[in-house]
Amino acid sequence: MHSRLQEQAARDPLTGLYNRRNLGETLKNDKKLADQEHYPLSILMIDIDRFKSINDHYGHQCGDQALVWLSEQFGKTIRANDYIYRIGGEEFLILLRNANPQTACQRAESIRNAVETSDFCYHGQPIDLSVSIGVATYPYHGVEIDSVIRAADKALYAAKANGRNRVQVCSGTLMG
Ligand code: GH3
Ligand code: MG
Ligand code: MG
Repeated sequence: MHSRLQEQAARDPLTGLYNRRNLGETLKNDKKLADQEHYPLSILMIDIDRFKSINDHYGHQCGDQALVWLSEQFGKTIRANDYIYRIGGEEFLILLRNANPQTACQRAESIRNAVETSDFCYHGQPIDLSVSIGVATYPYHGVEIDSVIRAADKALYAAKANGRNRVQVCSGTLMG
């Protein structure tokens, strides 16, 4: 019972994804493991493009359905060891284990493409959705997970500024 409540508290009720509640703790453990086994960890920061206008045009309920739809699309693209979090209203974080920047970029691109080509409908009406994704990798772009998250956030911001519906990898590197 106790663990079921804990599991519920860690999940977002709308999408069923993890919320940000245990994010810090999980990432700390993942970093430890990655250090021990010498593999990189990649962070994808995903933000829905122009989501406010979807709510404005079609209503909040449509927006909610779009969030559920997108969560399902993300779920189809990830692998057994990856984790998806809904960290904000329309923001998601995906943790890719043992993924270097190049692999992470490819995976992000396939998520971006899956969203762009998916056919979300609200009351029979097709609605275009797209996402922008920022990518950063531990330990290439930061020596702590927090700094890697900030780097992914910065890359996401650049993806938005460069026109949205795109993947942007962190530009600076710490290690070649
Ligand atoms: P950008 O491409 O720059 O990200 O534009 P945006 O419109 O997506 O960004 P902005 O931050 O202006 O708006 C985010 C919107 O997301 C506003 C808020 O109402 C909506 N939103 C956040 N959480 C939810 C939710 O749970 N349900 C619905 N329907 N909308 C949500
Ligand atoms: Mg946002
Ligand atoms: Mg947005």
